[in-house]
Amino acid sequence: MEKEYSDQIAALLAPPSPQSIQEYYKSLNESGKCDGLCVRDNGKHGKAVFAGRDFKEEELILKDRMLVGAQHTSNKVDCIVCSYCFRFIGSIEAQIGRRLYLQSLGICGDKECDKEHHSHSTKEKMECDLPSKEMIESLLNGDLTLPFTDRFALPEVVSCPAGCEEEKYCSQSCADADWETYHSLLCTSSNNKQSLALLKFIEHANETNDIFIVAAKAIAFTILRYRKLKKSQVKDKGKGLLGKMDSANFSLLLEAWKPISMGFKQRWWECISLPDDVDPSEELQFRTEIRDLASTSLELLKDAIFDIECAPLFSLDAYGSIIGMFELNNLDLVVASPIEDYFIYIDELPDKEKEEALLAIQTFVDALGDDYSVPCQGTAFFPIQSCMNHSCCPNAKAFKRDQDIDGHAIIIALRPISTGEEITLSYIDEDVPYDERQAMLADYGFTCACPRCLEERPS
Ligand SMILES: [Zn+2]
Ligand SMILES: [Zn+2]
Ligand SMILES: [Zn+2]
Repeated sequence: MEKEYSDQIAALLAPPSPQSIQEYYKSLNESGKCDGLCVRDNGKHGKAVFAGRDFKEEELILKDRMLVGAQHTSNKVDCIVCSYCFRFIGSIEAQIGRRLYLQSLGICGDKECDKEHHSHSTKEKMECDLPSKEMIESLLNGDLTLPFTDRFALPEVVSCPAGCEEEKYCSQSCADADWETYHSLLCTSSNNKQSLALLKFIEHANETNDIFIVAAKAIAFTILRYRKLKKSQVKDKGKGLLGKMDSANFSLLLEAWKPISMGFKQRWWECISLPDDVDPSEELQFRTEIRDLASTSLELLKDAIFDIECAPLFSLDAYGSIIGMFELNNLDLVVASPIEDYFIYIDELPDKEKEEALLAIQTFVDALGDDYSVPCQGTAFFPIQSCMNHSCCPNAKAFKRDQDIDGHAIIIALRPISTGEEITLSYIDEDVPYDERQAMLADYGFTCACPRCLEERPS
């Protein structure tokens, strides 16, 4: 039994064969997700994406839907977004009102913000700068309408189907899709043991590293896919097979896990780069601590959603590989705030109109402070973008246009690209000298040998 279990974990974590990589991305392509692109294992440094047709400069190359992702916990103070597609929801008034409300409670969205900021005297000062409680409330409950916000209408908020407070959506279809894909396993609405255990898991993640929440979503995604696959099999083959098909069940689990298996490379504690404030002599200890932290988080998650048929998913090695996938792939989720567009719009109004509008909103602008338009930020895994390799002279870039108001990754051509050319992105700020670039890329675990680096490399 032990042996079988460890064999299953090994099978789960074995890198996919070039053939299964090709098949998987071909199926993504056929479902219309990456029309005009082709993903291949180039044999040298893993997967690569190639142009399947010519692209013009500034043309959209790819709109990549995330496999799994989550808004940063600290960012939830600043932005109310759909938990499934990450569009801003509610209204401009509600977005501003909630932020001011949380500010009035002394809750700040800034991660770097130290605790002293919330000390009594600062809190009192902050409260003085804030609009009155009544004003904030009327923003929140819709009694107060700010000028011209009808031009920036946001979708109405839809609640979680089971009624938890954690997740909100832009539409019923997002609520249903989230429920089916991840949330039915991670919802905390009921008062049962599972919900309480989940709350403990979430609390631990919020206090330590919210990457655990994305990892939990990846596990929920796999379990739910597994259950769906199994249900359709049982329907096809009859109930007689139930219960005595352990190896068949495991191959279903492998199938359910496939989209995730395409993404991971190393375990978190192996690939995380050493923070500046950790002395190299303490590296081993640091990596052990990271592993222990993941182990604590995993135990809490097991208390909440463990499924014996998917047991290998709950091994520390699998958990570490999932987290490592988010660590290594550097795929940030960013959605621009409509508040920024709204304030820009007001600012560009003709003098008289602008003056009138400012009269109504100035108190709020002042109270929000400098970072009034913080974008939605989080961690996500984009299946195709994550296969694009780095170059210091890239031919494409990740770029959100004005119309890109949800969590998709958008890739645009920087120059004309011909059929068959590899699509490359820069993972770093590439406008720096050779040595600095290589130092930054070391965090991603490779030495760059792009045409520009080959030319600039000191001989
Ligand atoms: Zn949505
Ligand atoms: Zn819920
Ligand atoms: Zn380079």
